[in-house]
Amino acid sequence: MIKDNVKRVLDNITETAIKVNRNPEDITLVAVTKTVTAKEAQEVMSAGVKTLGENRVQSLLDKYQVLKDEPEWHLIGHLQTNKVKYIADKVSLIHSVDSLKLAEEISRKFGENQRCANILLQVNVSGEESKFGVTPDECLKLAESISLLENVKVKGLMTMAPLFATPDECRKYFYELNKLSQRLREEKLPNIDMKHLSMGMSGDYKEAIMEGATLVRVGSALFN
Ligand SMILES: *Cc1c(COP(=O)(O)O)cnc(C)c1O
Repeated sequence: MIKDNVKRVLDNITETAIKVNRNPEDITLVAVTKTVTAKEAQEVMSAGVKTLGENRVQSLLDKYQVLKDEPEWHLIGHLQTNKVKYIADKVSLIHSVDSLKLAEEISRKFGENQRCANILLQVNVSGEESKFGVTPDECLKLAESISLLENVKVKGLMTMAPLFATPDECRKYFYELNKLSQRLREEKLPNIDMKHLSMGMSGDYKEAIMEGATLVRVGSALFN
């Protein structure tokens, strides 16, 4: 049952946070609805989840038609520049910005909607080749360039752990992302607020919370 799954995951989040002396309220569960219908997404909302994450623009738009702006919408997957226009009036956070070109288009399209975009920079901490995201070094440069854009605010960093890593192995990548966000915080760049760390999925969200995650992106643990 989805309702029981939500409760179990929320309980785990609370328990893990308390174990490492963090406030559970600083951690938001983003329910990743990419494999389910709008109806199932509605069920997690009924169970108390306020934020839904979709990795593709089209599936976000499909569910948006049904659920409108009742949930907060997060785009968590790779975003193509030519699709920004479809979501500029709908999403509250984009987790996956990894180029200046994309950030510029986001600034433009959100500006046309009289909005300021909240974004995260996606970092490929593990160096795995198949992944999107900038390297930690590139991230510093990208943040500097993006800080000059008008309608974009950087709210933190996001990473995906390698697909086949164990939760323990993932933990060191989460630690690295946290360290990088502290480095960026010290730069004190305009429009850059290192408030969020988006890391951890169904298999490793507890490890991510131990390393400072504020947004955990959980799909299969809710819907299987
Ligand atoms: C699918 C997906 C998730 C959730 O993965 P689960 O293992 O199902 O929890 C998280 N983040 C991104 C970017 C995804 O595409």
